Amino acid sequence: MSRPLVIDSVAALRAQIRDWRCDGLSVAMVPTMGALHDGHISLVRIALEKAERCVVSIFVNPTQFAPSEDLDKYPRQLARDLDRMAGAGAQLAFIPDVAEMYPAGFATRISVGGPAAGLESDFRPTFFDGVATVVAKLFLQTLPDCAVFGEKDYQQLCVVRQLCRDLDLPVEIIGAPTVRDAHGLAMSSRNAYLSEAELGVARQLNAVLHRTAAALAAGADESSATAEAGRALVKAGFDKVDYIAARESLALAPWRRNRDGRLLAAAWLGKTRLIDNVEVPSA
Ligand code: AMP
Repeated sequence: MSRPLVIDSVAALRAQIRDWRCDGLSVAMVPTMGALHDGHISLVRIALEKAERCVVSIFVNPTQFAPSEDLDKYPRQLARDLDRMAGAGAQLAFIPDVAEMYPAGFATRISVGGPAAGLESDFRPTFFDGVATVVAKLFLQTLPDCAVFGEKDYQQLCVVRQLCRDLDLPVEIIGAPTVRDAHGLAMSSRNAYLSEAELGVARQLNAVLHRTAAALAAGADESSATAEAGRALVKAGFDKVDYIAARESLALAPWRRNRDGRLLAAAWLGKTRLIDNVEVPSA
């Protein structure tokens, strides 16, 4: 189990990738914000099925956090992350600091439409611009053949696909299934914020989504089913539901019953915001 090469500058990253390319090796990338859990590790394993080398980036990207959000207290645990990466076989950890990614005078921002509209953007209006900007930078720094993103952040996956299509970024985007704990809770670095009691409540989110998706597939009216799901979440102990909505599964346009869909939700438990989504099978 060898430890990944740790690189913190774009120049050194490019030199290493160039060496690999000279040896004819393919490269996959897994962008993360660290505090790695089994969900992230599953992406690394998929990356290594697709390519001979895997670059995992760890960068808590300030441009995707609003001032009121948890940038400062976002969990950071580098030594443990490197151990986990080594266990999964990732060969390179790219860990730039903020000045490397956004040097003084940085003034460009990518703005994505289409699947970025609504849902998360209604509550985090600058979030996807920040994600698109950092992902475009990471791709241009690394120039991977493919990159793996989790369906856990389903709207983000759709936004990244749109970004690559629109800007002709030659990176194949691979979506990976959500990894959950034994009770169905989607793994997330932010789960570390939850108390034992809150974890019990959090585990209801996936159950409610599954129940609602099954009802929609069986013909239930969309607005009453999602309103009922919102009430069920509050009854389970969630403090506030930002949204619970069905969308068409590729462009995230309004869902139509004869199309594959996704049911997506975001809800608050105390100061922690959880998101999840499940498939809505077409009738
Ligand atoms: P993050 O570190 O939260 O920015 O996530 C980095 C990548 O890991 C993103 O592509 C996420 O969608 C993915 N990811 C996070 N949690 C999970 C999970 N439970 N299962 C699968 N992928 C995940």
